[in-house]
Amino acid sequence: MWRRFKYSGIGLFIIIIIFFSSCSPKMITKKGLYLGTFLTFTVDSSHSYVYNEVSEILNKIDEKFSRFNKDSFVYKINNKKGEWVKVDEEFIDVLKFSIHMNEISDGAFNPILGEVEKEWGFYDGNYKIPSGEELKELRKGTDIKNILIDKEEKRVKVVAGELDFGGLVKGYALDLIKNLLEKEKVKRCVVNLGGNILVFGDGKEEFKIGIRHPREAGLIVKIKILSGTVSTSGDYENYFARDGVRYHHIIDPTTLKSARSGVIEVTVISDDGMLGDALSTTLFVLGIEKGERFLIKNYPQVKAIIVDKNLNKHFINGAMDLIVP
Ligand code: ADP
Ligand code: MG
Repeated sequence: MWRRFKYSGIGLFIIIIIFFSSCSPKMITKKGLYLGTFLTFTVDSSHSYVYNEVSEILNKIDEKFSRFNKDSFVYKINNKKGEWVKVDEEFIDVLKFSIHMNEISDGAFNPILGEVEKEWGFYDGNYKIPSGEELKELRKGTDIKNILIDKEEKRVKVVAGELDFGGLVKGYALDLIKNLLEKEKVKRCVVNLGGNILVFGDGKEEFKIGIRHPREAGLIVKIKILSGTVSTSGDYENYFARDGVRYHHIIDPTTLKSARSGVIEVTVISDDGMLGDALSTTLFVLGIEKGERFLIKNYPQVKAIIVDKNLNKHFINGAMDLIVP
């Protein structure tokens, strides 16, 4: 799941840059630290007051889904292994979605990789390469069947392994923020939560978004959208290098090592933030061919841009149409 602030590379902050059109109404920007990452919240000035509620929403998510917050459901479930933990409906819904993603992706998306992330040091930055023996031991904790849900009693337990919702929680947060913006009839807003973007407007004005180049300073491509979310997963967000090999935080559940699918950056453009976030991680693991087939079959309405290790761009479901010069 999310790392402590200390290890949240400032790079996260600049994955995506927003360009407002010149006829913008007056906008106000607020900045904060939530879910172990940076938030930039830009809203039309008459709605700046909604920031307080945004802050509350993000704190509540932290209180339920954080691996590090000792009062959270995730912390309790992970630390009371084998014991039922009382949760709420919202938690069960997100958990079920993550299990669904696991099923339809043939295991590429896996919400119970917490122990693996920890062992590699991706949580605290004390990076190490686990031995084959250690990985074998960790494998027992990564079976999706280790997660048990008692819907009647609203309780959850894991019999082995640790939950980690880092692959989708920022996107989920954007969905809750979007509901708030609709309720408050906000005119225009852009949210950047650790590289997961939500744009919200009148549906007529286009927002231009620059996608960070995975290997150089600057952008690899610019896109335009009217509304929705943009989620990026890259091998440059949290990584270390040993003997010229890059080890990054997106784990291939079949190897329990960094995914080596030939992909180095995935951008997903989706109306649904949680789906988009989960898909960016999933496509990274699946790689170009499998990922493309998976997306076309299951989510034809979701667009994606995959950058491979030779810096070639692959556009899926018409993502090419979003490109701007
Ligand atoms: P980030 O959250 O760093 O912006 P991602 O959306 O790609 O990037 O999520 C990566 C996070 O997802 C990891 O830090 C970890 O918490 C979790 N994760 C890693 N590998 C997987 C996987 N195969 N399936 C689901 N979650 C994963
Ligand atoms: Mg993701």
